[in-house]
Amino acid sequence: MPDEARPAPRPRSESRETLQLRAVRERQPELAEAVDMHLELLELQRRIQGRVPVPSLDLSTDTIARHQALGRPLLPFEAIPLELTDLRLMVRQTADVLRRFGALEDVDYQRVQAIGRDMKLLTVVGDWYRSAAERGAMAPAGVGHIHHAGGSGGTDAMSEVLAFAMRPFLSRCAEVLQQRTDLALWTHAHCALCGGTPDFAVITPAAERHLICGRCALRWKFESLTCPFCANDDRSRITSFAARLGDADYRVYACDVCHRFLKAFDARRASRPVMPVVDAVATLPLDAAAMQRGYTN
Ligand SMILES: [Zn+2]
Ligand SMILES: [Zn+2]
Repeated sequence: MPDEARPAPRPRSESRETLQLRAVRERQPELAEAVDMHLELLELQRRIQGRVPVPSLDLSTDTIARHQALGRPLLPFEAIPLELTDLRLMVRQTADVLRRFGALEDVDYQRVQAIGRDMKLLTVVGDWYRSAAERGAMAPAGVGHIHHAGGSGGTDAMSEVLAFAMRPFLSRCAEVLQQRTDLALWTHAHCALCGGTPDFAVITPAAERHLICGRCALRWKFESLTCPFCANDDRSRITSFAARLGDADYRVYACDVCHRFLKAFDARRASRPVMPVVDAVATLPLDAAAMQRGYTN
C-alpha cells in the first residue's frame, strides 16, 4: 500500500513537458495555437496537482483481481481527493483558457461558468465521472461498449471542460495505481482506475502496446492489434501506419470495423518517454491524415 504522505510535486517532469511543447511550436509553427493553449492548461493543472493529497485506495492483489473479473474500474467517485475550492477554480479557469483559444462557444462558456459557481457542481462532476466509471457492471466481459461521453474525446463541451478540470485529481490517483505491478492483471480496453476511454498509446521498448487513459493518464498493456473501441481482433481489418514527426516516431492504428483510430508514440528508439499532452498535440497532423482515409477519433 502507498503511504499517506504527500509526494513532492514534480516540477522537473512538468517543465520537461513545457520544453517539449515549445520545441513542437518551433518545429511545427502551424500548431502554435494548440501548443499555447495546452501550455496554459498544463500550468493550471501543475498548480493544483501539487497540492492534491495521495488518495487512500484498496489496491490489494485480491481487489485488483476481483475488479478485473468484473471489468469494474477501481476508483469510486467518493475516493477522489477532491477539494471543492480547487475544483471550482479548475473548472472556471479551464473554461477561460478554452474560450480564449476559441475552443469553447460563448453559450457553453456561460453554462460552464454558471455550473462552476453552482452548488450542483459536485453532482454534475459525479455524473460525468460515473458515466464511465460504472461501466463495469454493465459490460462484465471486457471490451464491450465504450461510451464516448465519458472520455476526453466526447463532443459535449461540458465533458471536455470537466476532463481537463479533473485531470490534476485523477492523475494523482493514477500515479498510485501505476506503481502496482498487479495492474498487469487488467486486460480491458477501458481504464482500470476511472473507466475512461484510451485516447493515446505508447509502444514500449519491449514492443508492447500500452493504452493511455484520456481522463487520468493511466497506462496499461493491451493487445497490439485489437481495436480498443469495438474489440475487433481481425488483424486484416486493422490498418496501421507509421509516421515520423520532428524527432519522434508515431504509429496510427485504425479499425476497419468501427472506423475509429488511435495514435501511439513509438518509444522503441526514442530519446524521451511518451508525454501524452505533448504527443497528442505534435500528432495533430496525423488526425487529419487518418480522417482523410475515412476514420474518426
Ligand atoms: Zn483513467
Ligand atoms: Zn474498432
